[in-house]
Amino acid sequence: MDGVWEQVSAEVDRRAHVLLDVSHRLHARPELGFQERFAHELLTGILEREGFAVERHAHGMETGFVARAGTSGPVIAVMCEYDALPEIGHACGHNLIAAMGLGAGLAAKTVSDRLGGRVVVFGTPAEEGGGGKVFLIEAGGLDGVDAAMMLHGASADVTHMDVVAIERMSVEYSGATAHAAAAPHKGRNALDAAVLGYVNVAALRQHIGAHERVHGVFTHGGTRPNIVPDRAAAEWYVRSPQAGGLRALAERVRACLEAGAHAAQCSMTSSPIGPAYADMIHNGVLGELYRANAARTGRDVRPPGDDGAIVGSTDMGNVSYVVPSIHPMIKVSPSGVSLHTPEFAEYARSEAGDTAVLDGAKALAMTVADLWARPELLEKAKAEFEAAVAARQHRPDV
Ligand SMILES: [Zn+2]
Ligand SMILES: [Zn+2]
Repeated sequence: MDGVWEQVSAEVDRRAHVLLDVSHRLHARPELGFQERFAHELLTGILEREGFAVERHAHGMETGFVARAGTSGPVIAVMCEYDALPEIGHACGHNLIAAMGLGAGLAAKTVSDRLGGRVVVFGTPAEEGGGGKVFLIEAGGLDGVDAAMMLHGASADVTHMDVVAIERMSVEYSGATAHAAAAPHKGRNALDAAVLGYVNVAALRQHIGAHERVHGVFTHGGTRPNIVPDRAAAEWYVRSPQAGGLRALAERVRACLEAGAHAAQCSMTSSPIGPAYADMIHNGVLGELYRANAARTGRDVRPPGDDGAIVGSTDMGNVSYVVPSIHPMIKVSPSGVSLHTPEFAEYARSEAGDTAVLDGAKALAMTVADLWARPELLEKAKAEFEAAVAARQHRPDV
């Protein structure tokens, strides 16, 4: 491993202007999930110029891509996200994720032949709800991949994010309209159905796991009080610490909602809003490599604290059930600044954000290089991954 760190570090520095330009241009032009055409063109263009074999519009997604380098050896994936949020732009800092992933791929490629490894940079659209990584998985995109990693901006340097599994659903109630004063007996009130379902869920909340969450809003509830609503609609989010528990909880929620429809003699349909996101199986072996490599850039990366400051859901969780994965977080803002706020969006374009792009790209590239150079570590990571998946299958969380 002589000189590998020095080389990947220098290769990132040599491309600093390109990486920071990518980060800034994406930030200036935020694109919503599955509409990231500018980001797709920008990133694939650079990867191609640097000698990657690029497949655009990959895995059935217009804004997805795959870029491969290296001829033999373990295949290590680096994920780039680049979608933004409505109104508040890059308030999740995915411009940083894209720039760090790009930099990691480019720098790793320069040592791939020497160390005998392959790197694949995945462009994974629509992390904010659309689940690009779920489509990537379903299309077989992770076949042959040995491990996967990405790096997310945050208010602290931590080994991983506390990720909960989430399912989001849209619910529609249908009844029969009638004049609410003249012929109420002819009406079947869809709003009643929705309200009764809501109340059922409120009762359910007493009997779910301490870390499970259910929240809903009505998105349609009628037009005039004197018209019995024949249509009502709601959206519900169901969260559970693990994917196994999530499926069970979502069924209980659906039963509550259907009972409301039944009581009001209405019908109900539910449909998923995007794919369900699994929790994250954080790989300790990969995490420790990342921690040690980030330390070379002067960062003190620790496990997340008990304050639960960084909790969320991500489609990287689904990836973590398929291959050994990590999703560490890199500090770009003072502590206390939350993701998905206009304040965080400013930090994603700040000097601290720029420093994170370069540090993060180096730490990720070196982690890829470690896995190429030390196959015994990759084997250890895989053994840990298989044990963790098996444990989750045998003991669904409640
Ligand atoms: Zn986000
Ligand atoms: Zn994010």
